[in-house]
Amino acid sequence: MFSSFNNMGNDGKMPALFIGHGSPMNAIEMNDFTKTLLKLGSELPKPKAVLCISAHWLTKGTFVNVSPQPKMIYDMYGFPEELYQVQYSAPGSPETAEEVRKLITKTDVHPDEEWGFDHGNWSILKWLFPKADVPVFQMSIDYHKPMQYHYELAEELRVLREKGVLIIGSGNLTHNLRVVHFEDKNSLPENWTFEFDSKIKLFLDKKDHEKIIEYEKLGAASKLAVPEPSHFIPLIYTIGLQDDDEQVSYFYDQFEYGTLSMRSFIIR
Ligand code: ZN
Repeated sequence: MFSSFNNMGNDGKMPALFIGHGSPMNAIEMNDFTKTLLKLGSELPKPKAVLCISAHWLTKGTFVNVSPQPKMIYDMYGFPEELYQVQYSAPGSPETAEEVRKLITKTDVHPDEEWGFDHGNWSILKWLFPKADVPVFQMSIDYHKPMQYHYELAEELRVLREKGVLIIGSGNLTHNLRVVHFEDKNSLPENWTFEFDSKIKLFLDKKDHEKIIEYEKLGAASKLAVPEPSHFIPLIYTIGLQDDDEQVSYFYDQFEYGTLSMRSFIIR
């Protein structure tokens, strides 16, 4: 972990982020993770808009939300009432969403006004830009497509970074709700959690994107770490945004509930 996010600017190009969002409770808890997000947000150059690709907007086909004022979506169950009161009032960015639709040639990106901000988005944006003064919009994940497809879609989005758009993949590197140690947030990571996280980190360090795209070849650990890909796909988007001369830096690398990698990184 590093203590400073200085020197963010890279000739006006926005960095790209992957954030392991973890429990929705992070939206209302001040802890090491959320303090890190708060600090990161205060040191980032101010984006023209934020494009968030959240693990919680899964669709058939690809959509961008074009609402001028996206609505709150409380897509989680069994949490304290306080969590369902959270508001994040950032405006949308219909212009940038339209730009995304024009930019992507790989598929038709459909306009959407039904979705808004799901908890993969607001639980972290609330800390990154607490004033809600940066326009934010989401693009959905076509859950029926392979990893290579998502990677290539991200490559087409890369040019937005030059235009002041901060793109955030919001998921988790390991995510298996069936085996979460719900009773103990601080329990030590299981072997497979640690193993899969370490392997992916190594590939991130080496910029070996192919190995990350083919994570299913990583054996038994991959089946436990990514039993279904919703939370892994946002990471594929973030690495697809990486230029050859850029590096990955990890600003958070802790584990929660014995099975959840919170590893989060910035590319610049
Ligand atoms: Zn999630």
